[in-house]
Amino acid sequence: MPSPQEELLEIAKRRLYGNYRPAPVVFVRGQGCELFDANDQRYLDLCAGVAVCSVGHAHPALVKTIAEQAGRLMHVSNYFYNDQAIRLADELCRRTGFAQAFLCNSGTEANEALLKLARRHFYGLGQTGRARVIAFDNAFHGRSLGAVSMTGTPKYREGFGVPGNVTHVPYGDVEAVKKAMGPDVAAVIAEPIQGEGGVFPAPAGFFASLRALCDEHGALFLIDEVQTGIGRTGRFLALEKDGVRPDAIALAKGLGGGFPVGAMLTTEKVANALPPGTHGSTFGGNPLACATALSVLRIVDDEKLVEGARTKGAALLRMLDELVREFPNACEAARGEGLLVGLLLREGFVARDVLPLIQREGVLLIAAGDRVIRFAPPLVVTEAQLAEGVAALRRVVAALDAARRGAA
Ligand SMILES: *Cc1c(COP(=O)(O)O)cnc(C)c1O
Repeated sequence: MPSPQEELLEIAKRRLYGNYRPAPVVFVRGQGCELFDANDQRYLDLCAGVAVCSVGHAHPALVKTIAEQAGRLMHVSNYFYNDQAIRLADELCRRTGFAQAFLCNSGTEANEALLKLARRHFYGLGQTGRARVIAFDNAFHGRSLGAVSMTGTPKYREGFGVPGNVTHVPYGDVEAVKKAMGPDVAAVIAEPIQGEGGVFPAPAGFFASLRALCDEHGALFLIDEVQTGIGRTGRFLALEKDGVRPDAIALAKGLGGGFPVGAMLTTEKVANALPPGTHGSTFGGNPLACATALSVLRIVDDEKLVEGARTKGAALLRMLDELVREFPNACEAARGEGLLVGLLLREGFVARDVLPLIQREGVLLIAAGDRVIRFAPPLVVTEAQLAEGVAALRRVVAALDAARRGAA
């Protein structure tokens, strides 16, 4: 007799479109940092659905908010106001110092809005020749044609007839940005730490230099905080660390704690870039999504998750540094900020191929770039859970290290 999970996997193979390559596990429920599959096997979740489930699975306060809001009001369209969208916009702006919020449903949509904002801003000023965007190699901004045009991985762009006018330069390379700058540049867009690209931090002073270059050339400076925002790096926004103010930012992932919600936050300077009728979203700003995000923000405050991300992240980095020292044939470095941390494997290892070995130990991690094992746990994770994850990873890495030594 096939197990419940095998039965579901059989249907999945036939019926789900084949654009993903999921592990053969079907999850049916979660609690905190634990997930349970259709055969009721437990996994420790240290990736939080790619940095999404910031307050863990089935957080009681979040569940209560969603149930209550669903029973009150779910959707009204943007032809009217709703109380939750107004409150969320106000809350996000008060926390970050931005002036206004455009609410949407995903990171892709938030970045698409940034791109349209930048081009429409200069169009509105009569500077129609200013439409080029500078983005970075290995950047990830999403998969719609606009967002993917800024994404820096050629494989994600090939074959789609992606619209152009985006120049990609090496991340962290100020000189390359300087060279790519010109009077036709509308904006520079960057992630504070490249998440998908390999948990790759920028060199100190990089963002201050970008801000200065944008000011000098009259271009907008845009930041994609989709993965790094909402406390992930031990600050509410990762860029707070650099003391630099972008003209607009994109948020999503952790903002909804698992519910699809995104936002573009803007400064006064670009308040007139997208006048009525130029941009919108049917679902964007719906009261259910906004109430959910408000609840996530309250939990982040109540449980001091931003500060927690900093201290627990530091502990995690120390544990991974130890792995690097202990198994130098398999591990090259540990890096990251707060609870966005990566273990860089030695050349020749493929992170995606190592993940099933870690899963066999009952721990869920994800890859970033080709060689990085990424930790992006729920912010509610405990140090004991992080230690459990690292212990599982240690067993896997020890075997890889021994195999590499044997081969040498
Ligand atoms: C995940 C991600 C996106 C895309 O977000 P979606 O919600 O998948 O559309 C954009 N930018 C960054 C930095 C991301 O990590």
